Amino acid sequence: MSKQVVIIGAGPAGLTGAYELNKLGLRSTVLEADDVVGGISRTVNYRGYRFDIGGHRFFSKVPLINELWREILGEDFLDRPRMSRIFYNGKFFDYPLKAANALKNLGPIESMLVGLSYARAKVFPSRDEENFEQWVSNRFGHRLYSIFFKTYTEKVWGIPCTEISADWAAQRIKNLSLTEAVRNALFGSGKSRDGQVITTLIDSFHYPRFGPGQMWERCEKLVNESGNQCVRGVQADRIRHRNGRVEYVVGRSTNGEQIEFAGDHFISSMPIRELIHAFDPPPPDEVLRAADGLRYRDYLTVVLIVNREQMFPDNWIYIHSPEVMMGRIQNYKSWSPDMVPDPRKSSLGLEYFLWDKDDQWTWSDDRLIELGIQECERIKIIGRSEVEDGTVVRMRKAYPIYDQHYQENLAVVRRWLDTIVNIQCVGRNGQHRYNNQDHSMLTAVFAARNIVGERHDVWSVNVEKEYHEEAKVATPAAGERLVPARIIRPEPAAPVPSPDELIEAAFARLDPIALGTAVGTLTGLGLFMATAILLLQHGPRVGENLSLLSHYLLGYKASSWSGAFIGLVEAGIGGFILGYVIAWLHNIGLGRYVSMIRRRAVREEEKEILEKV
Ligand SMILES: Cc1cc2nc3c(=O)[nH]c(=O)nc-3n(C[C@H](O)[C@H](O)[C@H](O)COP(=O)(O)OP(=O)(O)OC[C@H]3O[C@@H](n4cnc5c(N)ncnc54)[C@H](O)[C@@H]3O)c2cc1C
Repeated sequence: MSKQVVIIGAGPAGLTGAYELNKLGLRSTVLEADDVVGGISRTVNYRGYRFDIGGHRFFSKVPLINELWREILGEDFLDRPRMSRIFYNGKFFDYPLKAANALKNLGPIESMLVGLSYARAKVFPSRDEENFEQWVSNRFGHRLYSIFFKTYTEKVWGIPCTEISADWAAQRIKNLSLTEAVRNALFGSGKSRDGQVITTLIDSFHYPRFGPGQMWERCEKLVNESGNQCVRGVQADRIRHRNGRVEYVVGRSTNGEQIEFAGDHFISSMPIRELIHAFDPPPPDEVLRAADGLRYRDYLTVVLIVNREQMFPDNWIYIHSPEVMMGRIQNYKSWSPDMVPDPRKSSLGLEYFLWDKDDQWTWSDDRLIELGIQECERIKIIGRSEVEDGTVVRMRKAYPIYDQHYQENLAVVRRWLDTIVNIQCVGRNGQHRYNNQDHSMLTAVFAARNIVGERHDVWSVNVEKEYHEEAKVATPAAGERLVPARIIRPEPAAPVPSPDELIEAAFARLDPIALGTAVGTLTGLGLFMATAILLLQHGPRVGENLSLLSHYLLGYKASSWSGAFIGLVEAGIGGFILGYVIAWLHNIGLGRYVSMIRRRAVREEEKEILEKV
């Protein structure tokens, strides 16, 4: 096929797009503004010490993505144990929190206060659940919230928890995988719908031997070797379009040279705000304003090379201590021993979540390294004398912000983009969505397949309700490569059941009136028929056994038709009461069981609450 595709950005999304297009027999050119590939998922190499932007776990519920990772990286895709704890008040707390460990570290008085505050939240929960603080306090108590959630969340997002909407918590923490948790609690298989064993994020994850960038450097190599090209150091500056089609992208190289890249199709993983501003001629003002309303949180990491063989066993530590600015510490040697060139040394990544307008963003590297050392000393993680060297990496637009206007703004932008038929937006900032690598990649796989005539909705990946695509990925026959099934647009996607719908489907409640009527009819008619048969037989010892019922049924006689009718009515009433009570008791028991299952599922979900922040 002769279609030429231009892809903007050589992060996970852009490179996956090129890789998939190549499989489909299409040529592509990937433009990467930076001089490295991998985007936010890159590996940085400083004097042989490797580190990444935050620590990238490779974990996906989408089989297609797991297969792609293995296919690209092969043996260097390690399975790593996971450990992470919370550091607070000079102590390490197990994470997910464990009661005994938390009690020991908090001490008897604080533990008692935490317990009282928890009890208070359960008895007198805050009626309003409008913000994150109320949402978490209602579940864990205000005191536990203050210790384990407030500081870290505010460090990450830079806004008070009272200003973060509770919907955000409910969406990120509750809805995303509660359905899966409820399904597991109900059916207990430990497997997801596609039959894959669910390894929780708690136990282990995959990681490339030399950090996430190794995956993307290797992917770039495969793309280039197959006759496509990934061009580093070229920034997509302008997107020329006419009559609803993009004609070419004007790229600017690091030395200022301008190059035009023409194509039949275009895939963009650059931040959607910048994409809108790159269109030439520009979109209407209203669209430009909406794009300007999309905001991002920036991120900076100070890496310290430490003269110590073993720091701690954790991959990372959450720093909840309010007296320091850093939010987490990554211990890269625990991610993969090969991240450190000298086994006698360790390297730590101190993570700072910032706005690029913050003072610290513009501080010199030396000043930031000094800040890092001072903060480590303050919380007694390491001593100054142990630090051998350090470096700083800044990553703008690390997190797309979900504020109260982003959905409206994105809708305006998308409506306009729909008028340009040959460009598709993929990835994290490309779609302004809080996508991890797997979802970023899946959007690109969909985009590539759309170019060959399939019809996938790239915007349906990682939508709020659930992993939509999960239901659409078929389980492969042996050796067969998984492909997401087509979405035929006019057909609405199969609705994903909510946790409550799942529970309802699994445990139908009994209707007491219906069961009462059924049992009553059965017993009343049963007795009437039995009496009638005996009466019609006219035997010498008519109804000897049935007559015993006259002890219980007032006026019942097995030897007369009037008795038969009295039996019909009384046995009917008795049967109705029996059926009604059985249904009522069944429903009470079921209610208890269901709420126990729900509580267990919610507890499982809440264990990983920090990861979802
Ligand atoms: C702190 C942190 C921790 C994370 N941890 C995990 C994790 O544990 N697991 C996980 O799976 N994911 C994690 N993620 C998310 C992951 O980094 C992203 O999902 C992924 O990198 C997004 O890929 P992308 O290709 O969409 O975008 P990016 O990675 O942002 O790549 C976009 C690329 O486009 C380039 N570009 C931008 N503008 C232009 C232009 N005009 N012209 C040319 N090129 C351009 C950029 O330089 C960049 O290389 C984490 C993210 C952060 C911030």
